[in-house]
Amino acid sequence: MSVVRDGIPAAPGIVIAPARVLRWEVPRVPHGASVPPDGVEAEVQRFLDACAYAQQRVRAVQERTARTVGEVEARIFDPQVLMLEDADLVQGTIGYIRENHVMAERAFEWRVLEWESALSHSSHPMIIDRLADLADIQARVLRRLMGMPDPDLAARVDGDKVILIAHELTPSVTVQLDPRHVIGIATDLGTRTSHSAILARSLDIPCVVSLGNVSETVRDGDEMILDGRAGRIVIAPTEEEKEAYRQRDYLVREWEQELVLLAHLPAVTRDGLKVALRSNIDLPGEADSAHNHGADGVGLYRTEFLVVGRATPPGEEEQYAAYRKVAEAFPGQPVVIRTFDLGGDKFPAFLHIGREENPFLGWRAIRVCLDEPEVFRTQLRALGRALPHGDIRIMLPLVNEISEVERSRVLMRQCLAELRAEGHDVPEQFRLGAMIETPAAAMLAPELARHVDFFSIGTNDLVQYTLAVDRGNSRLARLYNPFHPAVVRLLDVITRAGNEAGIEVSVCGEFAANPVGAFLLIGMKATSLSVAPSSLAEIKKVIRSVTYEAAREAVDEALRASTPDELAVGVTERLGRMIDLGKFNGLHSLSGD
Ligand code: PEP
Ligand code: MG
Repeated sequence: MSVVRDGIPAAPGIVIAPARVLRWEVPRVPHGASVPPDGVEAEVQRFLDACAYAQQRVRAVQERTARTVGEVEARIFDPQVLMLEDADLVQGTIGYIRENHVMAERAFEWRVLEWESALSHSSHPMIIDRLADLADIQARVLRRLMGMPDPDLAARVDGDKVILIAHELTPSVTVQLDPRHVIGIATDLGTRTSHSAILARSLDIPCVVSLGNVSETVRDGDEMILDGRAGRIVIAPTEEEKEAYRQRDYLVREWEQELVLLAHLPAVTRDGLKVALRSNIDLPGEADSAHNHGADGVGLYRTEFLVVGRATPPGEEEQYAAYRKVAEAFPGQPVVIRTFDLGGDKFPAFLHIGREENPFLGWRAIRVCLDEPEVFRTQLRALGRALPHGDIRIMLPLVNEISEVERSRVLMRQCLAELRAEGHDVPEQFRLGAMIETPAAAMLAPELARHVDFFSIGTNDLVQYTLAVDRGNSRLARLYNPFHPAVVRLLDVITRAGNEAGIEVSVCGEFAANPVGAFLLIGMKATSLSVAPSSLAEIKKVIRSVTYEAAREAVDEALRASTPDELAVGVTERLGRMIDLGKFNGLHSLSGD
């Protein structure tokens, strides 16, 4: 009998192959004899040599990543390099060797255990990443000390095509994977934003994370289906199931082919309402792909991915080059660049954010920017210098108050004045917008609209803050429902306020990439929708298939609904009269769901 398991979709694609269970395990440290007093310094040196070797290995992997995947992705190894030099970890271990005359293996294990217990009280995605980094360097240092070879991943997965199963994957393991042999990845832990998930997407390997204890239930050689778009695996599938997924894969590909033809047609409804269809991008390198998929500009560039995992903040020059590159990929089209959305689930090492009970309610986004003026000013100066290279618009994340917009505007004006005084040819005017991501900002929208040039609704956060449901908690996934009437009513409040003030209202959260969500947003007259490059064609298909009039009626009905089901069913039914939702359903849900 087959077993179906659902996790979090992390990289799209359907594959069928045998499983290969990877155990990148930290070796067990044997009970060794104690070190004689005159051998202590040699033991300290042995430990330092192992750290130096491990660091050299991490750097080698980092260099290879820079060559094969990209410079930005390669920076995810910065924390590991940094940990191997960390005085607390290294000197702490040396202290144990000297005080207790224990072997380096044992002393290092003690120190790492202390670090782990300090970190592991959190279920936080970014802290989980730090734990994964720690496990990675622990395995490297111990293997060196114990005379074991570095695990030769290539040998584990060469030959046939396999789906790799692991408890969790560290970035340095993921990057060693050869997509010709590893055609899918399934892990017990992980989130969409964990470093290995980001890498899997860059390597184009279908991936499902957060599957619970799959690494304990699956055995080497078990046949599996992995559907990275639906976030599902099927262990030991029947012939019928395999056939159904082959068929689904075929339909997805056929549908994608059909959609390619839309790339260069305008995003306009059948009754003539234009909707700017823009792309979300996380890395500057995605700008070209977004352009090729026919995006009308960039609606959200998440700049914090320039920063996450870095030991030091990126300088003005580096940021200027990144912003300029994205702006130049879209000549004459808007490029909305969001200032760093740090905190929450993204903690760069240099910020020393410290442990917070509720990071998503904590020191995050615009709050961090305004409290760290040097980090913020460097970013604003880089943005100022990039302004002449395109239609760049600056967007502030998690705005809750008018004062946050005004303080940012003053800082930006100061930066532009400084740049002019230094001889840079920068304009005096710039467009500044606010992300509307909290119920507070939504209720304040009419007033906020007088202080900004545009709104961009971040539905991912708006849903979590409205419903008090953590967006990263897979246990609560059923409750994280953007079709909850409270969310839809807030969306209506925000779009109305923006439209009445005559400013642009864009939507850049995942809701805009959902066909039914997009239909509702068209009915609310959102002026722009911004979605991931892979969703552009689908959403363009929705826009071109519907009328504004029908969408408006769907909104009127939705605003009267009192339950999420009533709301979603009513709108879906109306959309289904204009478009073959079966094709979309082939992508968004599986038959029998
Ligand atoms: C959002 O919250 O909807 C959004 C687009 O921002 P992020 O997903 O980066 O928090
Ligand atoms: Mg957000």
